[in-house]
Amino acid sequence: MNIEEQLSAYGDVECNEPLAKHTTFRIGGRCAYFVYPKNEICFIRIVDICKAQQLPYRVFGKGSNLLCSDDFYEGVIICLDRYMNEIYFEKEGACVAQAGCSIILLAHEAMKRSFSGLEFASGIPGTLGGALYMNAGAYRSSISDVLKQVFVYKDGKCEWLNVDELAYGYRQSRFQQERDWIILAGRLQLEKGDQSEIKALMDSRRQRRMDTQPLDKPSAGSTFRNPENASAWELIDKIGYRGKNIGGAAVSAKHPNFIINEQQASAEEVFALITEIQSEVKKQFGIELHTEVERFNWKT
Ligand SMILES: Cc1cc2nc3c(=O)[nH]c(=O)nc-3n(C[C@H](O)[C@H](O)[C@H](O)COP(=O)(O)OP(=O)(O)OC[C@H]3O[C@@H](n4cnc5c(N)ncnc54)[C@H](O)[C@@H]3O)c2cc1C
Repeated sequence: MNIEEQLSAYGDVECNEPLAKHTTFRIGGRCAYFVYPKNEICFIRIVDICKAQQLPYRVFGKGSNLLCSDDFYEGVIICLDRYMNEIYFEKEGACVAQAGCSIILLAHEAMKRSFSGLEFASGIPGTLGGALYMNAGAYRSSISDVLKQVFVYKDGKCEWLNVDELAYGYRQSRFQQERDWIILAGRLQLEKGDQSEIKALMDSRRQRRMDTQPLDKPSAGSTFRNPENASAWELIDKIGYRGKNIGGAAVSAKHPNFIINEQQASAEEVFALITEIQSEVKKQFGIELHTEVERFNWKT
């Protein structure tokens, strides 16, 4: 059996698939196989097949924090958002959700049940898995604030890990070091709240994003983490880079911490702009800007 046939037993498979179709930047070369596992058992079999065939693999959520290179990826992308996306609520606000569920949908479902704690997530276009990987957050809240446990596939086994074992910090988690660990689900604890207040807060957050972020253009959200005691967007503004472009990649005039794919930008162009901003900010202010956006499939 060839690899496509083997993988197809356990999920939907696209061969020679452009990653540009699966990232919010709309950038990225092709990958050999892009697979949506049907469930956890299928996911484990797909990983086993990758290992047996010595194929590299990587899990994607919605590709909303990734800058994929323009190169071919000779491996398998395992995407959880099509099937592994169920959400379960208990009466008192405990919630278990699969890693592939949208956190916007999760926040909305919580609001419908009058559970508070996920209002910050109502405009973050990723999956729960992606959010738990990078401790996504906004407005001084983050997903780890409501997290109890994560169901992880590691060393060939699945186990629940407690939040205090996962080294959560600002846009940081242990998953960024333990690259083989795959998040399958999260267990959250939300608080009972007033539904109309929760909804009003979510609506106002969403409106604020629409007013301040270039949501009509492909991007991966904030490009840089905020350094201590400073805002990345202000530093970029101060070096005069608002609106600056390299090829089709541009610093948004609306929000300078967003790099947008203005006109069929290549990954190289986006990366060149990132590097230029980092070196200008370092030169003028002595501050290292670290990226929030992750690079995938780069040789260097
Ligand atoms: C318009 C816009 C606004 C945004 N606003 C915010 C914001 O306010 N706050 C914020 O924090 N982020 C924001 N982001 C960035 C992004 O949405 C978040 O980082 C989100 O959590 C990424 O989730 P994802 O499913 O898209 O992950 P992906 O981009 O698919 O993956 C990101 C990383 O997580 C890893 N990963 C994904 N799923 C798993 C898993 N199940 N197990 C292990 N590793 C996994 C991937 O391998 C990759 O390394 C924004 C992005 C956009 C485009």
